[in-house]
Amino acid sequence: MITVRCRFCSEQFDVPAESAGLPESCPECGREVHVPRSRLAPAVGPKFQAPRSAAVLRIVASLSLLACLVIGMNVIDGDMDATTFVVAAAAAVIEFAAASIIDHLALIAYRLNR
Ligand SMILES: [Zn+2]
Repeated sequence: MITVRCRFCSEQFDVPAESAGLPESCPECGREVHVPRSRLAPAVGPKFQAPRSAAVLRIVASLSLLACLVIGMNVIDGDMDATTFVVAAAAAVIEFAAASIIDHLALIAYRLNR
């Protein structure tokens, strides 16, 4: 429940949490009162859950970064070509970016569905 105070007659009344953000008629004066999206109102609908694919991508990206470190050592020692390092570094960056994009798209989809 959300407690609303009518801005016309100062009457206080309760409305269901589902009315958050919607107009409601004041039971005292009958005028339309805007129900605030109260911080106290319980969240309507399921909570946002970050997509698992993004979490997996972050793990893969972390492993790529680790691989970069190993490859980098080998490049310094002259055992490996610097191109390998650049490719591994680029892969890690792309994987991190992709994970962020997946997270953002999921968040946008979640907000649009509310
Ligand atoms: Zn009123």
